[in-house]
Amino acid sequence: MSEGAEQASIRTTCPYCGVGCGVIAHPDGKGGAAIVGDDEHPANFGRLCSKGSALGETLGLDDRLLYPEVNGERTSWDNALDLVAERFSSTIAQHGPDSVAFYVSGQILTEDYYVANKLMKGFIGSANIDTNSRLCMASSVAGHRRAFGTDTVPGCYEDLELADVIVLVGSNMLWCHPVLYQRIAAAKAERPEMRVVLVDPRRTKTADLADMHLALAPDSDTALFNGLLKYLADNGRVDKAYIDQHTTGFDAALAEGLDRQSVSQATGLPPSQIEEFFALWSGTAKVVTCYSQGVNQSFAGTDKVNAILNCHLATGRIGKPGCGPLSLTGQPNAMGGRETGGLANMLAGHMDLENPEHRDRVARYWHAPNLVEGAGLKAVDMFQAVGDGRIKAIWIMGTNPAVSMPDAGAVEAAIAACPFVVVSDVVSETDTLRHAHVKLPALAWGEKDGTVTNSERRISRQRGFLPAPGEAKADWWQFAQVGQRMGFADAFDWANAAEVFAEYAGLTAFENEDRPDARRDLHLGAVSEITHAEYDALPTFQWPQRDRFDPQKQTRFFANGQFYTPNKRGRFVAVKQPELVQDNRLFRLNTGRIRDQWHTMTRTTKSVRLNAHLAEPYCEINPKDAATIGVSDADLVRVEARGHAVLARVLVSEDTSVGEVFMPMHWNDQFASAARVDKLVPPITDPVSGQPALKSAPVSITKAVMACHGFAVSQERLPTDGLAYWATTPIEGGWRTEFALAEEPASPDDFISHLAGGLVANDHSRGFWRGAEFDRQSLRSAVWLSRGPLEVSRNWAVSLMNADFEDTQSRWRVLAGRPAADAPDVGAIICSCMGVGSIQIADAVTDGAFTVDAVGHACGAGTNCGSCRSEIAEIIGANQLIAAE
Ligand code: SF4
Repeated sequence: MSEGAEQASIRTTCPYCGVGCGVIAHPDGKGGAAIVGDDEHPANFGRLCSKGSALGETLGLDDRLLYPEVNGERTSWDNALDLVAERFSSTIAQHGPDSVAFYVSGQILTEDYYVANKLMKGFIGSANIDTNSRLCMASSVAGHRRAFGTDTVPGCYEDLELADVIVLVGSNMLWCHPVLYQRIAAAKAERPEMRVVLVDPRRTKTADLADMHLALAPDSDTALFNGLLKYLADNGRVDKAYIDQHTTGFDAALAEGLDRQSVSQATGLPPSQIEEFFALWSGTAKVVTCYSQGVNQSFAGTDKVNAILNCHLATGRIGKPGCGPLSLTGQPNAMGGRETGGLANMLAGHMDLENPEHRDRVARYWHAPNLVEGAGLKAVDMFQAVGDGRIKAIWIMGTNPAVSMPDAGAVEAAIAACPFVVVSDVVSETDTLRHAHVKLPALAWGEKDGTVTNSERRISRQRGFLPAPGEAKADWWQFAQVGQRMGFADAFDWANAAEVFAEYAGLTAFENEDRPDARRDLHLGAVSEITHAEYDALPTFQWPQRDRFDPQKQTRFFANGQFYTPNKRGRFVAVKQPELVQDNRLFRLNTGRIRDQWHTMTRTTKSVRLNAHLAEPYCEINPKDAATIGVSDADLVRVEARGHAVLARVLVSEDTSVGEVFMPMHWNDQFASAARVDKLVPPITDPVSGQPALKSAPVSITKAVMACHGFAVSQERLPTDGLAYWATTPIEGGWRTEFALAEEPASPDDFISHLAGGLVANDHSRGFWRGAEFDRQSLRSAVWLSRGPLEVSRNWAVSLMNADFEDTQSRWRVLAGRPAADAPDVGAIICSCMGVGSIQIADAVTDGAFTVDAVGHACGAGTNCGSCRSEIAEIIGANQLIAAE
């Protein structure tokens, strides 16, 4: 694709979450594109969330890694690939195949995953390949495999519209899977009798859609669902025929059932609320139980999953329209990774590493000389093996473990000390990339070609619509080239992604007979002979697709009771609620996503719109705890554990329970002085799935007393030397930076001048200093510093970077920290899509807009993706009374 050429619109798929929305890109021929939702894609029917809508703003090349580098020097692909192949080969020759590892990502495509797995598990002869999806949904995989015999998602998204009751367990769907939230909200608006229950220790924004919020104690989900199982049995609500004909283990599972009093004791929920929830769940056949990271990211995540699955198996509410369990995956291709064997304990095509028949079949299909015999190291164990020297060469692709892994400090130290580190990435700077001996430039979203699978087993194409920049190459190509150079030329010889896909589809169909005793769930036989042209045009479809390709069909599993266990019966798993030990001197840290950022911010910070929502790392804390510590909104706190500390802004909120705190997972050393929250998380994992417990780290919290607080907007990044705290994000025309000083500078004027240059004013009586530097009519930088809370409108200050400063008066107004009367402050941005701030929404309420729709009509807020509607509702609530007075 050549730059500047007229291009047609391209159908592709959003690269963020596991909803897998279809988008249409309209390339502008200059390296950019307008992005809209694809009306015809069955995951979203044209809807997008704030992140998806802002995709067009993330396509710039400014921070891209464009050329291969070895030890910091640009080199050719041939040199880099030869070196990688030679170092991996020599390490294996000297220390064996388990001395090397691949750590890949739910961001890479199915074709990338397939080639990586083939190389590691079939030709290198190790299973040391794992993925950051281990951090996201490994407990769901393990739970599915225990219950169903394979990792099968039984239902589909359509069930959300068909259900009478939807239960969201450990899922902040509004922020993490927003388009599914929109689908449920739309269905509920059409059928108000539909009931939504949120099961979550935290009152997240998703609670606004819920008729009932069960704010249970963290990690007590198993007790709740064991109680539900007993309730179903006691009240004659189980499907005895289904249990008898299609399952095993019911009695043992039921023996762990709990009465209401015991559930109440374990969960902290009132018995009346538990009773109400059980009656609701059991009162209709059409129940969907969605679950996400609140279930999976736990030391007992797999048991929680099975406690949920037990209730669906007991009622036969599985795989039928409008009912079933639905695991929501975090990443765009977590499912594709599961399907191709991206986890260290699985084989490609949903085949099992521990099954000799499956190993033999894969070895024959691949003509693999070294098919591995047992499981490899899962993510946490893998980086511990890097740390203690068992792994001596690692290739990390499309992920940033120095930020995202638990015990992130130790993980970074392990990577830094590893003798040979290869990192493939699209950006030039991450906390992981800085330790790479070899840096390989990868194609980004919009440039690469392949497929992804979403949470409902729907495979969609990601299509390139931009030219490959610099020398960036596809991830699958990088692995294939190294495979060839390691001596496996024939097995890694594909011309394009279409050929890789066809080979992978062929494996899923290989000896996958249409007989109950020889059938595997994942079957793509209908597309295994696909040509390049057909691949280019491939419409989205759900698997399985056995013989006749039918992209329109909705597929479900297990309604007929045919499972993939040896006896074809579904398995109840007897799971026990673990005893929860809490050190009351410490807080329990829950980490998670926020609405407008993604993972370690490498892509979303390119959109200034997204950065406007929440611009700083924060610590959400209950008012009672805030009072005990002596902090209030806008203070800074030091959150400490394991010899590490992070600094974050206080956000006091009733939404978080006493003893708990919530912090976003996203911030890292690129954007804040000390906010890598996963440094605080111990490397504790679920014993079955190996998934880390990322939502319950014990931490201590103290007020971080600062002498001065500051804020700056600047064309260049602000120098951060001497700042006790800083957090910075890109804005239109530059950067915004919050900062704080541990001690008041001896000469504040000099300090301001150092940061801002130029014009300095001060107000010693109020302890307020400010400075600004102008370049002709533009603002180069403006800095405000105060001993007390800094009352400068951030939104107004950010807008200054695009203003004209023709006269002295307007320049002095900058120093005063006040907008002019004709440029009113809009407040903190609430609606990223329409750029509407809190003050504008409050004004609309004052003028009589008392519903979210009325606010939308008045000022446009909430009228695009709708992800901000609950925040708008909060502002309405807070301002309605004032308006009525
Ligand atoms: Fe992308 Fe948002 Fe859809 Fe997720 S819900 S796939 S982030 S548009």
